[in-house]
Amino acid sequence: HDAKVSAKGLRIYEPELETSPRRVTLVAELRAALNNGEIAVHVQPKAGLADGTVTGAEALVRWEHPELGRVSPDEFIPVAERSGLIGPLTTRVLDLSLAAVAGWRSAGHDLGIAVNLSTRSLHDADLVDEVARLLRRHDVPADRLTLEVTEGSVMADPARAVALLHQLRDLGVRLSVDDFGTGYSSLSYLKRLPVQEVKIDRSFVTGLTEDGEDVAIVRTIVDLGRHLGLQVVAEGVEERSTWELLASMGCDLAQGWYLGRPMPIGELVPWLRTRERA
Ligand code: C2E
Ligand code: CA
Ligand code: CA
Ligand code: CA
Repeated sequence: HDAKVSAKGLRIYEPELETSPRRVTLVAELRAALNNGEIAVHVQPKAGLADGTVTGAEALVRWEHPELGRVSPDEFIPVAERSGLIGPLTTRVLDLSLAAVAGWRSAGHDLGIAVNLSTRSLHDADLVDEVARLLRRHDVPADRLTLEVTEGSVMADPARAVALLHQLRDLGVRLSVDDFGTGYSSLSYLKRLPVQEVKIDRSFVTGLTEDGEDVAIVRTIVDLGRHLGLQVVAEGVEERSTWELLASMGCDLAQGWYLGRPMPIGELVPWLRTRERA
């Protein structure tokens, strides 16, 4: 089935999407891209709000096609989900991400990495074995890997997703709720999920200093996280004033352009070194 969330939040059926020329092209090209090295991962640093210490990074998949140019993950992830390519794509992202962590470790930087999981991956019984295999292959301790899931992806099939999250948790992997605050049942399900972290959606964060309602929402999520013993991350921090306000609220970590843009994996250690010198 092929559904899309319309501007009003209703799920509408769009059969023409399956066979649109753009989509047919993307499926074929994505299948090829998985075998020819066009898929890469960029990393965006994350740091403690209290002292600016970089604790890790989020892995963001990138696809640079020779003719189509850079295709956004917001376009090709849904295509991968519907065409059965999300499994191999997630495996590739995990492999590149854990190789990066191993490289940083041998350069003397003990950093974590966060990888995004899509809805289908939460229904993939092979995922747990794949994660275990890749952690072993790269010799990375399980708690250096965080898997980010959205409320929407969990809610597509809650019983199955919760069971899978528990299996991942048993491996020692950290779990995070991405885009927190944008779903419908955040509070009740947060209690049932074996997660260690929530990421406040950037729609509440980016304009924080100009919007009193966003301040109230963010403050509430930070307090909720503290009471539940969860780490709270703010994403989309673009300005110093936002950083300072979040720090004063007691939010734990921040990610966003103010700290650093997503960058190729090989640029992270040089970037860390220029920060240390500054
Ligand atoms: P997300 O997980 O919410 O990732 C954060 C997005 O915000 C990224 O967009 C990032 O580049 C962008 N961003 C970071 N800091 C700032 C900021 O300060 N201001 C603004 N305006 N934007 C910022 P990107 O890389 O285009 O990724 C879009 C979405 O695609 C991600 O949203 C995630 O849902 C999905 N995605 C990316 N990589 C993967 C992947 O490997 N697997 C899966 N399943 N999904 C992925
Ligand atoms: Ca994310
Ligand atoms: Ca997010
Ligand atoms: Ca988002």
